[in-house]
Amino acid sequence: METIKCLIIGSGPAGYTAAVYASRASLSPVLYEGMEPGGQLTTTTLVENFPGFENGVDANVLMASMRAQAARFGTDIRSGRIKAVDFSARPFRVVDDHDRELLAEAVIIATGATAKYLGLPSEHRFRGLGVSACATCDGFFYRKKDVAVVGGGDTACEEATYLAGLCRKVYMIVRRDVFRASSAMQERVMNTPNIEILWNCNTQEVLGDDSGVTGARLVRKDGKVFDIQIDGFFLAIGHHPNSDLFKDWIETDANGYIVTQGKSSRTNVEGVFAAGDVQDPSYRQAITAAASGCRAALDVERFLQGGK
Ligand code: NDP
Repeated sequence: METIKCLIIGSGPAGYTAAVYASRASLSPVLYEGMEPGGQLTTTTLVENFPGFENGVDANVLMASMRAQAARFGTDIRSGRIKAVDFSARPFRVVDDHDRELLAEAVIIATGATAKYLGLPSEHRFRGLGVSACATCDGFFYRKKDVAVVGGGDTACEEATYLAGLCRKVYMIVRRDVFRASSAMQERVMNTPNIEILWNCNTQEVLGDDSGVTGARLVRKDGKVFDIQIDGFFLAIGHHPNSDLFKDWIETDANGYIVTQGKSSRTNVEGVFAAGDVQDPSYRQAITAAASGCRAALDVERFLQGGK
């Protein structure tokens, strides 16, 4: 059976940054790319807020470049995913989807999170063409335009107020007659004049043409069907952290996010570390994920050296 020092699970900014640091520290990391090589970023187009790219960078180019950088320092990058883990004793036993067993001295979990979508065919059709699950990433493209945000939680309120600073008008499509968000966030929304809340509404269809999204057809609880004209349709109905594989061993919060200790990437299992969106319900940015990947690699290095 193959024994490795450092296993990295996931290939978003967290996984690749961990790989760059771990390989430069001579930990000979093995990285499994998982189901979505390159991670969530590959579902967007232009990334304008990753430092170092004055004119922005194509998301796929950015991820290919991170991958190449990790490979250049010797990371063993493997396609496929880890399908089973046993964290009961070190070295940790894991199995990949070719039924290969590995023993790992340390593991970095960087499996990310998945944004929830409504599941409408029209929403799928316009993904990247006006449909987005990240206002911070894509809001800038809708300056002075009209957009809608779906959801009534803290994320929806935060994204709606963020977009209200850029856009002419922001509709919030809320399926009940109350918000789920905290009262402070609700107050911010209520005090923002260019946000209009459409209570008791669900989206029937995202409307558009070859140029992208042009509107949305909504249905209100009383049966009324009506259209709104918008250029951007933002989903903010929650994320699902990809932590299910580890749930028998690793402590998570009520929403499934892996709990890390203090400012470190340490989990409740000594030798298992977590980085990126799988342990971060609040920031969820490529740059914050990358930074936490760096921390995780440094934590692994210290751990394997016998320090803290
Ligand atoms: P939440 O689960 O809190 O809220 C999801 C929202 O989306 C709810 O309003 C829900 O409606 C709605 N929703 C879910 N499914 C659908 C659907 N199919 N159609 C229409 N609407 C739907 O997720 P968040 O991402 O907002 O927050 C996750 C966690 O992160 C929370 O604990 C939150 O407090 C925290 N957070 C904190 C922030 C902060 O403090 N600054 C910022 C962002 C998040 P319903 O209420 O009817 O179920």
